[in-house]
Amino acid sequence: MKEKLLLLISLQECDSQLVKLSLKKVKLPEKICKMEDDFRLYKESVEQNKRKYEELKAQRTECEATVKKLSDGMIKTRERLLEVKNNKEYQAMLKEIETSEKTRGDVESRIIVLMDEMDKLIVLVKKDEETLKQAESNHEKEKKIIEDDLNAIEADTVTWTEKRAVLAKSVSADLLARYERIRKRNNGIGVIPVWKAVCKGCHMNIPPQLYNELQRSDELLTCPNCNRIMYFQNQEESS
Ligand SMILES: [Zn+2]
Repeated sequence: MKEKLLLLISLQECDSQLVKLSLKKVKLPEKICKMEDDFRLYKESVEQNKRKYEELKAQRTECEATVKKLSDGMIKTRERLLEVKNNKEYQAMLKEIETSEKTRGDVESRIIVLMDEMDKLIVLVKKDEETLKQAESNHEKEKKIIEDDLNAIEADTVTWTEKRAVLAKSVSADLLARYERIRKRNNGIGVIPVWKAVCKGCHMNIPPQLYNELQRSDELLTCPNCNRIMYFQNQEESS
C-alpha cells in the first residue's frame, strides 16, 4: 500500500485511540460512582436485620432503665413508709408500690420478649454479615479493575500523543490539513477501510469503477458519500 496512506491509517489509529481514552476518562469515574451507589443500596438492604436488632437493643436498654427507675422508686417509697403515721397516707403508698411492682413485671416480660427476638435476629445478622463481606470483596475487586484502567489512561494518552506527533511530522502539511478537515466533519474518522465495495464509515456502496480504481490506483481517493479518505482492506484476511 502507498506510504502516504499507511501513514494516514496509523495517524487515524492514534486519533481513534486518543478519542477512546478521553471518553474513558469521563465514563470510568461515572461507572465507579454508579457502582458505589448500587453497592450502598445493596448494603442497606442486607443490613435490614442488623438495623432491626439495633432497634430492639435500644428498646431493651430503655426497658432496663425503666426497671431500675421503678425499683429505686420503690426502695424510696418503702423507706418513707416507715416514717408515715397517717393510715390513709400509708395505704396510698402501699398502692403506689403495688402499681410500680405491676408495671415493673410488665416491663420485665417485655425485656424477655425482646431478648428472644434478638436471639433469633442475631443468627440472621451473622449470616448477613458473611454475605456482605463476600459481596464487598467482589465489589472492591471490580472497582480496582476500573481504577487501574483509569490510572493507565494518562500514561496511554502520553504514548499515543507522542506516537501521533512522530507520524504527523512525516505527513505533508497539506495532507495533514486535509485529513484533519475530513476527520472533524466525520465524527473523528478521516480514513476508512472499504471492503466488498462498501465504505465502512457510511456503509454506502462505492461505484464499481471507483472500487476498481481504489484497488489499483496510487491516488488518495475519497468516498463519494461521506468524503472520507478510503483504502481497500480485505476484511476476511485482516480479521
Ligand atoms: Zn463513506
